[in-house]
Amino acid sequence: SGGGGKKKEVKKETGLGLSFTKDENFGEWYSEVVVSSEMIEYYDISGCYILRPWAMSIWEIMQTFFDAEIKKMKVKNCYFPLFVSPGVLLKEKDHIEGFAPEVAWVTKSGDSDLEVPIAIRPTSETVMYPYYSKWIRGHRDLPLRLNQWCNVVRWEFSNPTPFIRSREFLWQEGHTAFATKEEADTEVLQILELYRRIYEEFLAIPVAKGRKSELEKFAGGLYTTSIEAFIPNTGRGIQGATSHCLGQNFAKMFEINYENEKGEKAMVWQNSWGYSTRTIGVMVMVHGDDKGLVLPPKVAALQVIVIPITYKDADTQGIFDACTATVATLSEAGIRAEADLRENYSPGWKYSNWEMKGVPLRIEIGPQDLKNNQVRVARRDNGEKTDISRVFLVEQVKGMLDKIQQNLFDAAKQKRDACIEVVKTWDEFVKALGQKKLILAPWCDEKEVEKDVKARTKGEMGAAKSLCTPFEQPELAEGTKCFASGKPAKKWTYWGRSY
Ligand code: AMP
Repeated sequence: SGGGGKKKEVKKETGLGLSFTKDENFGEWYSEVVVSSEMIEYYDISGCYILRPWAMSIWEIMQTFFDAEIKKMKVKNCYFPLFVSPGVLLKEKDHIEGFAPEVAWVTKSGDSDLEVPIAIRPTSETVMYPYYSKWIRGHRDLPLRLNQWCNVVRWEFSNPTPFIRSREFLWQEGHTAFATKEEADTEVLQILELYRRIYEEFLAIPVAKGRKSELEKFAGGLYTTSIEAFIPNTGRGIQGATSHCLGQNFAKMFEINYENEKGEKAMVWQNSWGYSTRTIGVMVMVHGDDKGLVLPPKVAALQVIVIPITYKDADTQGIFDACTATVATLSEAGIRAEADLRENYSPGWKYSNWEMKGVPLRIEIGPQDLKNNQVRVARRDNGEKTDISRVFLVEQVKGMLDKIQQNLFDAAKQKRDACIEVVKTWDEFVKALGQKKLILAPWCDEKEVEKDVKARTKGEMGAAKSLCTPFEQPELAEGTKCFASGKPAKKWTYWGRSY
């Protein structure tokens, strides 16, 4: 985000426009868009936000998709309590070391201090696994695959940002246990693919799948895979969702043992995986423009808004009826459509209002359209306008929604790809970082070297870190050296500043 806070004057005439532009004041623009589109209301506790229906509807569409997919994989939903006793929370050392600074505690009830303070879950490994230990006895109890849709609390200290980094957020967390590492490994990737689909197919955002470094992996886990998105305006990477293989660390601590088929005692292999309401923030940042939100049709609660254009001597009733009929036809075909028939707002005001809210298609119906049995359709993504006959309404609208979805993805991918910079040396790395690039560099994959990169790039913009080692690896020529240490490189890895 840039400073300055220079306000634009022109758009204020309707009282609807944004005062900041995406390219000039990205941070302010973002805050303004999420509020003006009625997704977020700020709350009087820093880092906490009200999710209004316009945001919640997007979350629910992704939830419906993901929930159905994991049920096909035989994952079942459940619900565990919000509170954790210190005893279990502190059990896995690496895990709690990672989360301790962000854990919120309940210390009082009414006027009296609690004898033992109670923690609020930052994630539920330690909440759930004592019961996994109880429920898993024999090999027939495996695999155990549970998921919960819930909130978690992480008392983050770095810049809270609506959706992207909040102190309370909504997510799903899946927690599974298997007899073999192979089964766990397979599931990690199956879930990661679902996360890729949420971003690419629903939110129209290109992501890279890959593995996190030792320094960046989930505290207490064996390895972490993630999908990484990129915000060109700020030059920051963002972890989109994570699918962890926990290995047997938690099983050891929580004694999750079972009797295998040979009658021997064995330990389970575990995974955990989650994605949060952060997804919505990434969508706003990638697709939004100076008129407001731009919603990909697949996640838009409202895909088409129909607006009557009436003049003094026009056939108002006829136009209103045509609007209602158009909505009925579209709705019947499974398209999410509504008419804005409010008489106390002008068509111009309504245009700005629905543009701010990011509705993918606007249909205008005026006297001329009524006469010609047509409607005028305007695309939110590129402003293109077309007249279409009401005879072909459904197929044309469906076609346009598909095109918008694809166009948003293509445009985002083109922008993201244009930011990727392949570097080989430290000097090139520093230069690319200054140019807000998504950096792909050959790396020796050593923890100490990543710590060193962080230390050497520390500054007011935040340090650079590894984002992921992408599964899709370009060829690494023999003898290639690590950009940071000069040691032999093992992998191509994405680097950059991140959220
Ligand atoms: P983790 O349990 O740390 O692997 O987090 C799982 C996912 O939750 C991450 O990949 C993020 O997308 C998301 N997430 C983590 N922290 C936050 C936060 N403070 N606000 C919103 N989403 C978050």
